[in-house]
Amino acid sequence: MSEAAPATADSLAAVLQTQQAAIRARRVPPTYAERIHALDLLKDKLFEMRHEFAEAVSEDFGNRSHQETILLEIFVLLDEIRHTKRHLLKWMKPRRVMPNWQFLPGGAKIVYQPLGVVGVLGAWNYQLLLTLSPLVGALSAGNHVMLKPSELAPITAELMRKMIADIFPEDYVTVITGGVEVAGEFSKLPFNHLIFTGSGRVGKIIMRNASEHLTPVTLELGGKSPALVGENYPLDRAARRVVNGKFSNAGQTCVAPDYVLVPEGKVEEFMETAREVTTQFYPTLVNNPDYTHIITKRHYERLANIVQEVRDRGGKVETVNPASEDCNIENKVFPPTFVWNCPDDTTVMQEELFGPILPIVTYRTLTEAIDYINDRPRPLALYYFDNEKKNINRVLNETVSGGVTLGGCIYHLPQNNLPFGGVGDSGMGAYHGFDGFTNFSKKKAVFIQRKVAATMLLRPPYGKLFSLVIGTLLRNWPAYEKFRKPAKKG
Ligand code: NAD
Repeated sequence: MSEAAPATADSLAAVLQTQQAAIRARRVPPTYAERIHALDLLKDKLFEMRHEFAEAVSEDFGNRSHQETILLEIFVLLDEIRHTKRHLLKWMKPRRVMPNWQFLPGGAKIVYQPLGVVGVLGAWNYQLLLTLSPLVGALSAGNHVMLKPSELAPITAELMRKMIADIFPEDYVTVITGGVEVAGEFSKLPFNHLIFTGSGRVGKIIMRNASEHLTPVTLELGGKSPALVGENYPLDRAARRVVNGKFSNAGQTCVAPDYVLVPEGKVEEFMETAREVTTQFYPTLVNNPDYTHIITKRHYERLANIVQEVRDRGGKVETVNPASEDCNIENKVFPPTFVWNCPDDTTVMQEELFGPILPIVTYRTLTEAIDYINDRPRPLALYYFDNEKKNINRVLNETVSGGVTLGGCIYHLPQNNLPFGGVGDSGMGAYHGFDGFTNFSKKKAVFIQRKVAATMLLRPPYGKLFSLVIGTLLRNWPAYEKFRKPAKKG
């Protein structure tokens, strides 16, 4: 697909048909060696282009730290590819399982089969990671893939299109670029699986579109992920880690702590460290290569309105702008902002912030904090800072979230051995590592019936033998007795 020709419903359908035809023509799924080769091509090209990508991502944002792109996107991807390569042979092997004893000497196994063509709708905030990590899972499972990165990071999307076109034929993996309309048409294609990363609002549209063909969906959504600081946990350590998780990529991270719950009376103590650490991390903002800008003016305006509403409604607002620079909608630099004493019905307390604003909420007891979390939609991530096992178990048992990091923020996400995905409003399905492989595979159930089989005893005409066997199976001897000696009529 060339850059000059915007995709239409027909052209998208044609690409899908090309991929479907390629799958049918090859008859058997890609072998282990072919999948490893594909992963190697991706790994090598990604590594080769890492600085080019860091530059492209930065251009899309106006500024984004090269180091953050290398660490949070390139490294995570390369690490996932390495992990996948190391384990793929084992994952691909059919898994023998025990049949029910009644079916012995039969056999049973699970065969992992590629689904076919997987569609991937990525998101702009980590354009590379959120488009290519599903690709790693889908390729490892032997699928062909159509990728649609977000139009809000067009320079990265175009570079990704070139990279993929360079290493894969269009009938195997291809990138479709274009706007919201293209994304809409894309989600209507009869894929064998569709994975979408974005907001719940658009997630509903995607799911509705996919339902037309009963296309199964994985929805990687967001929400208000809480950070809860326990009564006896060192507040300065928690503040440092929350600040780090919040202001990376200027809060434009799906698993960023959205708000922090601190014990009553400790807001000022929390703020002391938060202020100091934020200043240490970002002594300047406007020309600081480490501080990411807001993706668009529209997103900037939304954040500014959210803070203005807090001011208007009597909440406390503190921005950390150490060099007193001019941060404005033109340069798209939004300063790290802490807010507290916000009425519950303000936007800041209701909507996912997805920017560098951190609301601080206080609680009196752990039960109250847990209830506060449970009164809201199930979050994508939950962060809990506590050293007391009893409390940790309570939080783990009494809350439901996509994932949890204890004693820190974000780090459950890059774990290759942990599934990544939300629950309820924060999404459905999960991927990464083996969970990516299985998410994009059909777990085919295979039962092997042998020459001799107990099931031979259960055929009509149903007589005494059947009664004996079913009585045994049901562990129901009185019933068996009834079968054996039918009551005489009259
Ligand atoms: P969004 O839902 O507004 O847009 C996502 C993509 O959907 C867009 O790039 C666009 O291509 C497409 N889209 C938009 N409107 C559409 C329509 N009407 N029909 C079809 N497609 C349409 O999300 P966003 O603002 O780009 O991203 C922010 C959200 O994504 C946050 O909620 C965040 O938490 C979530 N997110 C989740 C993850 C995760 O892994 N769970 C990662 C990153 C972001």
